[in-house]
Amino acid sequence: MTLSFPSVEEARRALDAPLYADLAGDLNVSFEFFPPKTEKMEEQLWSAIETLTPLGPKFVSVTYGAGGSTRERTHNTVARIAKETPLAAAAHLTCVAASKDEIAEVADAYWDAGVRHIVALRGDPPVAGAKFEAHPQGYQGAAELVDGLVKRHPFEISVAAYPETHPDAASAQGDLDNLKRKLDAGATRAITQFFFEPDTFFRFRDTAAAAGISADIIPGIMPVSNFAAVQRMSAMCNTDVPLWMGRLFEGLDTLPAARQLVSATLAAELCRKLYAGGVRDFHFYTLNRAELSYAICHLLGLRPEKSA
Ligand SMILES: Cc1cc2nc3c(=O)[nH]c(=O)nc-3n(C[C@H](O)[C@H](O)[C@H](O)COP(=O)(O)OP(=O)(O)OC[C@H]3O[C@@H](n4cnc5c(N)ncnc54)[C@H](O)[C@@H]3O)c2cc1C
Repeated sequence: MTLSFPSVEEARRALDAPLYADLAGDLNVSFEFFPPKTEKMEEQLWSAIETLTPLGPKFVSVTYGAGGSTRERTHNTVARIAKETPLAAAAHLTCVAASKDEIAEVADAYWDAGVRHIVALRGDPPVAGAKFEAHPQGYQGAAELVDGLVKRHPFEISVAAYPETHPDAASAQGDLDNLKRKLDAGATRAITQFFFEPDTFFRFRDTAAAAGISADIIPGIMPVSNFAAVQRMSAMCNTDVPLWMGRLFEGLDTLPAARQLVSATLAAELCRKLYAGGVRDFHFYTLNRAELSYAICHLLGLRPEKSA
């Protein structure tokens, strides 16, 4: 029988100090939710918010459905978070199918409801895969939207960034120039599209810094609960899904608990590597489920805030 020995390098990696031992928990986290459609989904959302609140997120945000389809629901959810929880609530807002006046009305309603943070986006057309067409009296894109919003109220503004380049961009450099325009227009931070390899983020962070972007770029973390759905989303937004990831989810379709464990392990490892590379701010796409995001934050050393 031939004994095969693992390479020294692999043995060293596997035996390194426990990956998650005694991390300081010196993180800022934010959590993204979507507005619920049904009573049951509403319950799920509020249960997720309740679970994640003690982690003291810097802010929580609520998405805006494609084509502005969730205008009322997004508003109601954000306004309720602002009113009933200690959390800083941020509302996503897009330019799709809305005139500048209509957007001003939405922004005023947020300001009046005490909401001070907007995630300003161009948005995607309601029909998946269709090309974005600006409303005749609307904004051409997120940079113009940021400009319009800050002129109306002194909002804190976050914008989107794309480590793997937005599918509509003519080039990676063009996409970066666009990000810079959004920040120069008054946004204070960028949150990235999700990605699965730490180097994707590190390369983007370096390129952005070299292009003179000094604002915070926060990685958007997507814990994968449904691999097929994430594959579909990734194809639409230009996110590379590594082959090894597909192999790791193989055979788990009917084993939800096993899938959760695999999912948490992968996302936690990604975050651990980002942390090792100096990242201290993380934005989680929670899909209105608390457990995965909570577990990852916990592994990174974050603990519930002690109430005074
Ligand atoms: C953190 C995050 C949250 C999101 N939340 C939502 C949400 O709630 N609702 C929703 O519908 N979508 C959401 N999206 C998706 C987003 O709306 C889409 O990715 C959309 O296609 C682009 O929006 P943007 O704000 O990045 O657009 P923009 O920054 O306006 O850019 C869009 C594209 O056009 C290019 N571009 C812009 N201006 C110019 C120019 N002058 N010359 C050449 N090229 C230009 C850019 O390079 C880029 O490729 C989110 C994305 C992220 C990363």
